[in-house]
Amino acid sequence: MKGTLTEYIRLFPEPIAIVNSNGEILAINDGASLFWQQDAQELIGQSLAVLLQQSQDQVQAWLKLCQGNAQMLAAHFPIPQPETNHWVIEGIGINLDGEPAILTRIVPSFCHNQQLLAAQLQQLQAELARQVALVTELQQRQQTLEQERQQLQILAQRDPLTALGNRRFFDKALSRLWQEAQVQGHPLTLALIDIDDFKAYNDCYGHLAGDRVLQQVAHTLKAHVRSNDAIARYGGEEFTLVLACLSAETALQILNRMRNHVRELKILQSKAACHPYITVSGGLCFVPARNRATLTEIFAIADVALYQAKQAGRDRCVLLTWSPNAPSNP
Ligand code: GH3
Ligand code: MG
Ligand code: MG
Repeated sequence: MKGTLTEYIRLFPEPIAIVNSNGEILAINDGASLFWQQDAQELIGQSLAVLLQQSQDQVQAWLKLCQGNAQMLAAHFPIPQPETNHWVIEGIGINLDGEPAILTRIVPSFCHNQQLLAAQLQQLQAELARQVALVTELQQRQQTLEQERQQLQILAQRDPLTALGNRRFFDKALSRLWQEAQVQGHPLTLALIDIDDFKAYNDCYGHLAGDRVLQQVAHTLKAHVRSNDAIARYGGEEFTLVLACLSAETALQILNRMRNHVRELKILQSKAACHPYITVSGGLCFVPARNRATLTEIFAIADVALYQAKQAGRDRCVLLTWSPNAPSNP
């Protein structure tokens, strides 16, 4: 075994020596005799501590550590030959013909450090890759959450039956348009649109048919407003609409056109209703530019206008203009 091992260590260029538990050289390769500049025969039996110019105790302690270790254990002895401090000795415990021994090799310290650095670098790269994957995953989750949040926000402001905005959507849109109108100094019209005799329709054709009418009316109203005019199902069979920057005449014209489109759907009404087909009535409050109106007043005036339209026979629109002394002002 010792012979085979001696042949084996000869294959390596770096200085390698096999020592017994006392640190005495049992075998060396050419690299080692070159390193210590002595013949192999002269080196056999010499003490490693003497060759390394270290204290016997220190070397013994290190050899003992190597013996019990399954991998190479480095010792940073300031090895004096041939360039001080530039060498590191590594050792690993082996079994030599039933006797414990230590295989040692001397490597330039930069090689030793490089190996260490490479291992650390690899570890760092793996950690970095893990962190990057984690961040990417977090970003994806955040994106999904944001999409879901936006989706929920849209759903929370939409009426599921008609797909129009709901009351929440409308209240927000109205206060935004109202602020814009005040800042930019332009007029604004609020319209309340209510299906006529809808109770009679439901009573006659049933609630499901009533739902379909709500969808048809909503679709028709939506199709005839400008894309930036806020329209919503305010509740029940009542719709709301804000028209910004239009004169009272134009706003009324638009509302009458919408009303006619609903009648032209020719949805048969109950015999108990005022008109043969489904119709709507509109109450409009026109607010001139630069005024001191409040949203509560505007709603109240539109409500009065709607009431007047109903009283006058339905299927019509009534427009009232806000003024500081309007009768509906609380
Ligand atoms: P008016 O012309 O004065 O507005 O009479 P109207 O019958 O339309 O008004 P009323 O307030 O008496 O009745 C409103 C009806 O609208 C009663 C209710 O069943 C119906 N309605 C409200 N919401 C819905 C809905 O989501 N689906 C259906 N099918 N009907 C609804
Ligand atoms: Mg109604
Ligand atoms: Mg109503």
